[in-house]
Amino acid sequence: MNHFFTGTKANLSSCLLFTFVFFSAYYSQAFWLPLQAFFTHSFYLLTAILVVFAAQFSQSRFSILALLLLVLLLSNQLSSPLLSAWQANGEWQILASVTMFAYLAWCKDRGLCSIHFFFRLISLAVCVLLAFAYLMLINTLINQYEQVSWLIQYQQWLNIYAPISIAFVVMLIPCLQKKHLFQPALLVTAVLTVLFYFDALWLSWSATLVLLLLYFLLSVIISSYFLAYRDELTGLPSRRALYQTSLSLGRKYSVAMMDIDHFKKFNDTYGHDIGDQVLKLVASQLAKVKSGGRVFRYGGEEFTVIFPRKQAEQTLQELETLRQAIADYQMVIRQPVRVGKDGRKMKKSANTKSVSVTISIGVATRLPKQNFEQVMKAADKKLYQAKRNGRNNVTS
Ligand code: GH3
Ligand code: MG
Ligand code: MG
Repeated sequence: MNHFFTGTKANLSSCLLFTFVFFSAYYSQAFWLPLQAFFTHSFYLLTAILVVFAAQFSQSRFSILALLLLVLLLSNQLSSPLLSAWQANGEWQILASVTMFAYLAWCKDRGLCSIHFFFRLISLAVCVLLAFAYLMLINTLINQYEQVSWLIQYQQWLNIYAPISIAFVVMLIPCLQKKHLFQPALLVTAVLTVLFYFDALWLSWSATLVLLLLYFLLSVIISSYFLAYRDELTGLPSRRALYQTSLSLGRKYSVAMMDIDHFKKFNDTYGHDIGDQVLKLVASQLAKVKSGGRVFRYGGEEFTVIFPRKQAEQTLQELETLRQAIADYQMVIRQPVRVGKDGRKMKKSANTKSVSVTISIGVATRLPKQNFEQVMKAADKKLYQAKRNGRNNVTS
């Protein structure tokens, strides 16, 4: 199974890729520096495109992040008595920015044109106020305890370094855990903003912002691709991906259809949640398919494997290995324990249970003049034969 773009590895690769592009941009400044003014203007256009595009693809956190960068940029450029306190106090700016980033790291993607957006705005405003309150508190404490020398000594640490470090830990945790490309993008943005604040950014801020927006756009495109072509539960390519792949197949290939045996009964006995866990575990076993096979979740408890350039007979051994591996696989599942009188409250518990399932497989080779749907139908017929033959077998 290709999880390259969907896990912690993907988040790390995404950060590394941006770092590479960033340094390339730095070392090739001689070429694009004359276009600096163009970059500054394209930032606004790119922000507009990204906000609409990301919201359209239900990834509104990217929209919010881009809008936030725009607001931070404009709030430093505009002159207004209201903004003067903000502009004069660099510490407050950077603290407020990283607090907002840390908040975004734990947000969910919610519609941009909904009440949720309004709550997000209020929460972001609260982050700014929190940063302000924190600085006030620390400075009041330091003024009050002037005689405590270490407080003065560590003033800079308490004011800036400590809260920034905490904010980065808060951002890093979901980056390592969650599988969304928003997390590394947010982390990179935070790092660059901090570098900018400390005057340690080698690239101009306008060029950096344009690079960041391009990076967000790419992340939105890649995440949308995975939303469309990956099955959420199992992480396998979805039925849509199956039909897409079928377009690139040659004349010779085989298709195997697989179906978990008596899965309805399994769900009835153990519950739908455990059924879902089992589906995931079966998918992880099927993903180990060799002989050039490519596995997809067809739907429900049905899976499809395509073997390009193979006759059905050449796939039998591999399919038999898969069938056996699943039949032998004792799946350890976590079972929530019902507590309380009415049994409604669920307690997360370490209560585990071991279960197993079997699968039936039907496989068919493409015959001359057959299209993909016809081959699938032939494999499906074989699957029904496998079911009639007593299940837990491969029929060709
Ligand atoms: P057979 O051996 O003939 O295939 O019996 P079966 O019970 O597996 O067959 P059937 O196709 O009638 O039932 C499929 C069941 O799979 C129905 C549904 O309860 C379950 N199922 C389908 N999709 C999901 C899913 O995403 N999660 C869970 N937990 N169960 C699912
Ligand atoms: Mg079925
Ligand atoms: Mg079934």
